[in-house]
Amino acid sequence: MVSLEDLQKVFRGEIKISEPLSHHTWIKVGGPADYYLKPSDREDIINIVRFFDECEFPYLIIGRGSNLLVHDDGFRGAIISLEDVLSNIRIEDDTVVVDAGVWISTFVDFCIKHGYAGTEMLAGIPGTIGGAVSMNAGAYGGEISDYVVEVEILRDARVVKVQKEDAGFSYRKSGFKNDVVLSARFRFPQKDKEDLMRVRRELLIKRNEAQPVNFPNTGSIFKNPGGHFAAKMIESCGLKGKRIGGAMISDLHANFIVNVENATAKDVFELMVMMRNEVFKRFGIPLENEVQLVGFSPIETNLLTKLPSEINE
Ligand SMILES: Cc1cc2nc3c(=O)[nH]c(=O)nc-3n(C[C@H](O)[C@H](O)[C@H](O)COP(=O)(O)OP(=O)(O)OC[C@H]3O[C@@H](n4cnc5c(N)ncnc54)[C@H](O)[C@@H]3O)c2cc1C
Repeated sequence: MVSLEDLQKVFRGEIKISEPLSHHTWIKVGGPADYYLKPSDREDIINIVRFFDECEFPYLIIGRGSNLLVHDDGFRGAIISLEDVLSNIRIEDDTVVVDAGVWISTFVDFCIKHGYAGTEMLAGIPGTIGGAVSMNAGAYGGEISDYVVEVEILRDARVVKVQKEDAGFSYRKSGFKNDVVLSARFRFPQKDKEDLMRVRRELLIKRNEAQPVNFPNTGSIFKNPGGHFAAKMIESCGLKGKRIGGAMISDLHANFIVNVENATAKDVFELMVMMRNEVFKRFGIPLENEVQLVGFSPIETNLLTKLPSEINE
């Protein structure tokens, strides 16, 4: 365990001890992290990550926690939040460079204001650019990686720039699982601003009609398996509205679990296992979770990654 004194020698930012992660996840669920760190600037991030790597202390970088399910027992190690820490957006020649801690909505507003087309479909996705690049967030047929030129990351203690073709982007995936995304550079086509604003407005209306935005949630629980919609599969198993404790499978969108009344991570997790098992029984397709599990044991994780037959072996 790293002591507070050790931490303070290398880190200038804010340190919270035993901080409940329910305060930092969109679904408002999750136990305490040993340390919750808010770096003061880029140098602080780099120093602390190098320090943790050297002493092999576990840490996790987060943005707005909009795609996380954190265990009720929390996370043993340090959570490093980049939200609002790296917060610059700038135009360089014909590209836009955006820091990892910038909110997706701020980025979309900036692009539309300058007539850059291609981010409108991201409107309404809560999160930071770091989280969106790491997850390759997308919606309505587009992904954030569509217009990426390069991504600046911290990898093995070094700051490096990775070109898009080497970034390992695929559906809700990037090659940055073990890296810290610091910034990303984009190149967009130009379009009429009024048109971009109209598209954003229409997509936001569509999103708000289709998703349970009035309750805390994590966005889509499962990825869509090739050629299928996870929500349709879950719905056809009759699971809409199914409740465990304070968590419920949304009756509006079956691939969402909502925190209706002080849900625990266990409530949410048990619903996830039920959804996956029922879909597998009916369709023979094992769903892969999109939401990132934090602090869960390998035995628990197996319930969402292995086939029921493999678990019983
Ligand atoms: C209501 C709602 C709607 C949503 N709709 C969509 C949607 O339409 N499409 C979609 O793709 N997603 C959607 N999501 C999921 C989520 O908002 C996105 O995945 C978002 O990009 C996550 O950003 P974040 O900053 O909150 O990341 P977090 O949830 O904090 O983290 C997510 C993952 O990214 C990693 N990460 C975060 N920041 C960094 C960084 N700087 N460097 C390296 N790794 C990092 C974390 O370690 C974690 O593995 C939705 C979520 C909600 C709650």
